[in-house]
Formats: sequence, C-alpha cells, structure tokens
Amino acid sequence: MPGPWESHICPGCACLCDDIDLVEAEQGVTVHNVCAWGAAKFLGTKKFHPGEPRRRLTAPFIRHRGRRREVGEGEALKRAVELLAQARRPVVFGLTASGCRAQEAAMALARRFRARLEPADLHLMAPYYQALLTEEIYHAPLDFLRDEADTVIYWGANPLHACPRHLTRYAFFARGRFTERGAEDRRLAAVDLHRTELARFCQVFVKTAPGRDLELIRAVHDLVAGRGAAQAVKGASRLADFLRQGEVGVIFAGRGLAYGEGARARFAALAALVRDLRPERRYFLFPLASDFNSAGLYHLLLTRLGSPGAPDFREGDPPRCHWEPVDWGEVDAVLVTGADLFWLLPEGTRRELSRRQVPVVAVGPWEDRTAAQAAVGLPAALEGIEVEEVACRQDGLPLFLRPVLPAPAPAAHQVLTRLLEISA
Ligand code: SF4
Repeated sequence: MPGPWESHICPGCACLCDDIDLVEAEQGVTVHNVCAWGAAKFLGTKKFHPGEPRRRLTAPFIRHRGRRREVGEGEALKRAVELLAQARRPVVFGLTASGCRAQEAAMALARRFRARLEPADLHLMAPYYQALLTEEIYHAPLDFLRDEADTVIYWGANPLHACPRHLTRYAFFARGRFTERGAEDRRLAAVDLHRTELARFCQVFVKTAPGRDLELIRAVHDLVAGRGAAQAVKGASRLADFLRQGEVGVIFAGRGLAYGEGARARFAALAALVRDLRPERRYFLFPLASDFNSAGLYHLLLTRLGSPGAPDFREGDPPRCHWEPVDWGEVDAVLVTGADLFWLLPEGTRRELSRRQVPVVAVGPWEDRTAAQAAVGLPAALEGIEVEEVACRQDGLPLFLRPVLPAPAPAAHQVLTRLLEISA
C-alpha cells in the first residue's frame, strides 16, 4: 500500500466519511477515525465480527447440478449471458452498494435483457419519494444539518446499526457553525419498537407498538397544528412539544417505518407533519439509507428515467417504473450485484427461489449467501478500496473514491460491461 493516506473516503456506508487515515505501521496497516464497520471493509473482516476474516470470491465459477466448478472468466461470462437471455422475467437486483459506474452498466444490462432493475432498499426509498410527490418539503445537505439543526429525531431508525458515525459526523455530537458545542446545542429524540442504545442520549424516547406508528404520527401532527389529538396516543404530546421547541430540525426515517403494510401512508403522514411545522420552523425529512451508494442509484434512476421507482424494461422502453417490490414468485433469473440478496430475502422466499432452481448470477467481492446459491459467480474488486469509483453520499453529494490496495479482480463495472459486450 503506497501511503500514508490521509482524508480517505470510507465506502463502508452511506455516510462516506472523508476523514479516514491509513498508515503503514510495523504490525501492518492501521486505519484511523474509522468505525468498526469501516475497519472491517478495509481489513477484509466480517462486519459484525471484526476479528474474523471474511471470505473473498477469488475465482469465477459455474454450478452444475449442485456442483461448483472454477472456470475461466470467459466461460463464466458466457454462461451468465445464456441464463439471463433464456429468462422470461429476469431481475437485476441490488446496486445500493455499487459505485455509480457499476450502476450505469447494470442499467444497460437490464435494458439489454429486458429485465427489471430492483434497488435493494426500494421498500424504504419508494414511500419516501412517493411522499415527496404529494407534499412540498425541502431537502438539506448533511453539512447544513450539522451546522444548523438543533432538533433531531430518528424515527424507526437506529443510526448505530445503519450508519455508525452518523451521530458523531452530522446529526448529534458533531460541532457545526451554529452548533459549536455539539450535543449541548442539540436535542435528540427517537421513536422505535424497542428501547435501543440511542435512548441513553435522547431527551425523548418513545417506544411504539407494532403497527401504531401512523396513529402516533397523526396524533403528533394534530397537536402541532393545534387541533388537539383525536385520541390520546402514548408519547404524542412529548414528541409534539419536542418538535415545537425546535427552530431547525430533521426527522431521519428508517427501515422501521418501511416494513409491512402502510409504509406509504406512514411516510406521507410524516411529510405532512414536516410541511406543517413550517414556516415558523425549518424542518426536513430524510430517509436513513445505509448502503454506500443508495443515493447514487436513485440519482441515476431519476436523471435517466424520470422516476425513482424500479424500472421494468420488459414492459417497454422507456420502462414502466414500479413502487412496489418485485413479486419473486414470477422471477426466473437474477443478476445480483451490490447487495446480498439471500441475506435480505425472507426465509420462505429464499427457499422458494431455491426450490424453483431460479438461476442466480452473483457479481461481487465476497463469498456471501448469494454466492453460495449462485449458478454463476464472478469476482469483483472492492470499490473505493481496491478500485476507483464514484458514489453519492446519503444527501446526494457525489464523491470520487480512490483505491488504496491492489485489486485481485476487475471492478464490478468492468465485469458488467463485459457481460453487455458478450450479449450483443
Ligand atoms: S460510518 Fe460508515 S462511512 Fe463512516 S467510517 Fe463507519 S462505515 Fe465508514
């Protein structure tokens, strides 16, 4: 590693922290300022068990009748193209943990195979974007929130498990231009199903019951608007007081609000609450995406196709874009990159895909659960660590990611482009 590297960007999550220092020491490379997730990515260890090495996908392979065989890259690429070309309902899945170049190449592949392109966090981002279509709310860069936000709420979101340094870099402990004392100049609240670690720092922590968020949001909204809540909802008046006392505030909405029926209604209600907190106060609504380039993917979808929904090129070009997650019962081939599909899917869906022997093509750096099920595996280098890439921070800021280590495999965008060339 030619170093030392100062102010390097960590591609560990959507914070894309740009203050990472890598120094070659006697005992090996040391990484400074980084959280445990980021360190795991730089050092090639498991995210939740930083002491254990994570297995890399080292060679292309093909699986035939359950037996995995290492092959040359050309043979693996050819087989992957055959599987995707034969499919009637192929899906290109993931991409939230892929660089912008890989996302572009994946979109071109989806177009070529008349496939649906399915972002891994569509269930979180679709209801957020739908809320933006109906409510006039504003966007703010994370740096603005660090400088000015005096009131912060995490709703259905635990930053310690989504973006570990979010609290220290941007939201609560961070010292900004008008929040020079950091946490002393801010108030923090959280709403969650369980009492999380965040409760230690919060002025207000509201523990909700499953399926009760919408009721709580509406009750808070009624109180803030001076209508008086239609019925007493536990925690509503504390949250309403908390919001009313802020001048500049942000609600970070997380996956807890996105699971299950009614996500769209919950996000719409939160957006309406944020809208009505204006104009006396400046409030913002922000989805807490976790993967390092989720924002880049939605930027691509919006700029190229005009919609942040999942585009289905089988239905024409320009494609129809869907807000609802794909029906896996219809899918007959999947190309996965920038996500671990078999880690994300519910057990029943995983089993059903395996039972129907739906062929999976996995492009990525790890021997993850998806690679373990894949019909074809194609190794790729770590973006932002072994190869250069471009990514957008959680608030959309585009950043150039430089490599610091030699690459043992091609970049994902090169692998995807080769698939495209072979399929021509
Ligand atoms: S918070 Fe995210 S970007 Fe920052 S060091 Fe941790 S993993 Fe890397």
